[in-house]
Amino acid sequence: MPNSNDKSPTQRLRNAPRCQATAKGTGKRCKCTAVRGWRVCQVHGDGGGHRPGPSHPRWVHGGRSRDVTEARLLANLLARGLNSPFVIGGQIA
Ligand SMILES: [Zn+2]
Repeated sequence: MPNSNDKSPTQRLRNAPRCQATAKGTGKRCKCTAVRGWRVCQVHGDGGGHRPGPSHPRWVHGGRSRDVTEARLLANLLARGLNSPFVIGGQIA
């Protein structure tokens, strides 16, 4: 990323990532600026929370964990070969 301070402050704020939470009151996207490193704004739960993985209190068996899901996706792609809709020009999309 180039130096992000070379733009005007207004432009930097406009380009900032937006909160992806859905407001319960309106049913619409929040659209506030997301906190750095998070997908949501301060109101919708930045910070706190457990880190994902076996130490998470809702961890059961790990069969649906990110690593296993990713590996399963890759194994499926390999099994299907290059006819998969997720392979474009020999690259996994
Ligand atoms: Zn929000």
